[in-house]
Amino acid sequence: MNQGPVHESGDASHADLVRLADQCVLCGLCLPYCPTYALDRQESESPRGRVSLIHALAEGRMDVADVDFTHLDHCLSCRRCEAVCPAGVEYGRILDGGRRLRRDAGRQRPGLTARVGGWLLAHPRLLRQLLFLSRHLWRWLPGRLRNSLPAPPARAALTELLLQPSPSTGRGRIGLFRGCISRCYAASAQQAAIDLLQTLGHSVTRPAAQTCCGAQAAHAGNALRAARLAAKNHRAFQSVDVVVTLDSGCHEALSRSLDAETIDMLALLDRDPNFDELNLHDHPARVAVFAPCTQRNVIRSDDALRRVLGRLPGVDAVWLETGCCGAAGDHMLRFPERAATLREPLLQQLTDSGCDQLLVANIGCQLHLQAGIAQRGLDIRVRHPVEFIAERLLPSFPSPEPPRMAP
Ligand code: SF4
Ligand code: SF4
Repeated sequence: MNQGPVHESGDASHADLVRLADQCVLCGLCLPYCPTYALDRQESESPRGRVSLIHALAEGRMDVADVDFTHLDHCLSCRRCEAVCPAGVEYGRILDGGRRLRRDAGRQRPGLTARVGGWLLAHPRLLRQLLFLSRHLWRWLPGRLRNSLPAPPARAALTELLLQPSPSTGRGRIGLFRGCISRCYAASAQQAAIDLLQTLGHSVTRPAAQTCCGAQAAHAGNALRAARLAAKNHRAFQSVDVVVTLDSGCHEALSRSLDAETIDMLALLDRDPNFDELNLHDHPARVAVFAPCTQRNVIRSDDALRRVLGRLPGVDAVWLETGCCGAAGDHMLRFPERAATLREPLLQQLTDSGCDQLLVANIGCQLHLQAGIAQRGLDIRVRHPVEFIAERLLPSFPSPEPPRMAP
């Protein structure tokens, strides 16, 4: 169990940062796993290079004014380096700490778009209303902008979730985390999660006061905003026993904020003793699956997803080879060419697979891959795995009831 609200990983002090970075023995074993090193073949674009840079800054051996921070900006926070590091270096904490040093030194002046975007993520209800309006403005935007921004959500995606009255079953009370972008684009996945959880006998709630997980703020070095969001979520989820997340990119930041246990939805399905009581009828389908970096390297629920899909009769899952899709939070907006280059091998694998559905358990990766699929003119549906699972197991999903607009 967590110990209450704490700052996201960007709260490391200079001394902490030095201690964390000291754990790197500079062996270089992480380099072959780093997507940006593969792209640029430069030490400065590798985990070792970034740790060395932050180490020097934290110790005062380098002046913040002399540093080219582009190399930190390019980092995808995919944590592949952390997953393979034999010395247990906590790369994610070091990176967030380094970005915070930069911000504190006034070397980070985010542009207007980044500032407005960061503020909107912290106000998800307003973001939702603006995205609804943007559906009407989208076709008037210049083509260059339309190509680099995620398309606005479909009207049906902006619906309120339907929650049946939950009888008390003694299985504890689950709070569904809705996120900021996900609540705008992934209402269907969230509805699928609610329907599955209630069918499995859980009592479900979705506290209205919850907000963004704060991961984006922490990665941008804005520890203060990350801490405020963490405190708000801590209050919002105080009355539940378990919090369920759907997006692998949100899970870690949220779990640091809460007293309640935080579980990835796919891990919960995998371990739920009632899962096999659901209607596991034969329903043949061939689907492509991509495991986002945070799912593989941080919360590690990819094996759970493998097992759950393996329990669905007739389902043939084609796993795309591991690689970062390039979405990486706002990386896809700030560095669209690099993001598109990183995405290309995955799109090729997807095209070669011949599948007409792609399952992805993180909203940023979903949107980025969807945009690439649209640019290629492919007819492939990108969805959260939980929607696919609900469709196979619940005769009533998706609900025939007409969607209602959320407040
Ligand atoms: S981060 Fe880990 S794997 Fe990479 S150079 Fe340092 S000790 Fe080696
Ligand atoms: S988080 Fe990913 S992109 Fe960043 S240094 Fe590690 S492996 Fe490279």
